[in-house]
Order: sequence, then structure tokens, then C-alpha cells
Amino acid sequence: MSGIRGKNTRPEIIVRQALHKAGFRFRLHRKDLPGKPDLVLPKYEAAIFVHGCFWHGHDCRYFKIPKTRTDFWMAKIASNSSRDQRDIEALHKLGWRVMVVWECDIRDKKDWLTPLVADIRRNG
Ligand SMILES: [Zn+2]
Repeated sequence: MSGIRGKNTRPEIIVRQALHKAGFRFRLHRKDLPGKPDLVLPKYEAAIFVHGCFWHGHDCRYFKIPKTRTDFWMAKIASNSSRDQRDIEALHKLGWRVMVVWECDIRDKKDWLTPLVADIRRNG
């Protein structure tokens, strides 16, 4: 298990700082929106989630099912993933475009910023 679930987890701060540096303005944790997106850019109708690979069941090397209480964790993560799906659909219905940045792309220092910015600007 990696990372602590919280409002200001590190990958989220990294995304925030990078977008800020790229000149975007956004709001954080809009509680009135499904799933409370980590960032929203109203001008671009874009909602962004920064997902921890463990909690959101990402199919990547950072996701390992714990050896203890395995059933509990499997159920927990499955329910997180289906909630994510529901939130994304609900946001789409409200006219938001949804983007997800995965923790592993940030940790592995992949170029997640270029495609994210391209996605955001697509509706500029
Ligand atoms: Zn991942």
C-alpha cells in the first residue's frame, strides 16, 4: 500500500503546481460536484482527478493487493473503482469533461503534463 489518502497528497500538489506554472487557473475540491474533483477548470469545463494507484485499483506496478485482509481490500478497491465510474458519468451528464492523472505517471516521471494540457485546451 502506498501513500496516504488525503486532500493534499503529494501527486495532487505536483499536478496543481505544474498546471499553475503552465498558466491555468483552477478551483480545488468542488464539493458540489460528483466525486469532488481534485481540480476544476471552469473556463475549460474540465474536471481533473489525481488518482492514487492503490485506492483506485490501477492496473500498474504500484498496485499490489495486500496479503492480509485480502478480501476486505479487494471489495474496498472494487467499490472505489465503481464509484469513480459513477462519478465520471455524473460529471459528463453535467457537461464536464473528465481527466484522470495517475500517481504512477507522476512517480515514474512520465510526461503526463503534455497530454493533460492538450486535453484541457481541446475545449478552450
Ligand atoms: Zn498506476
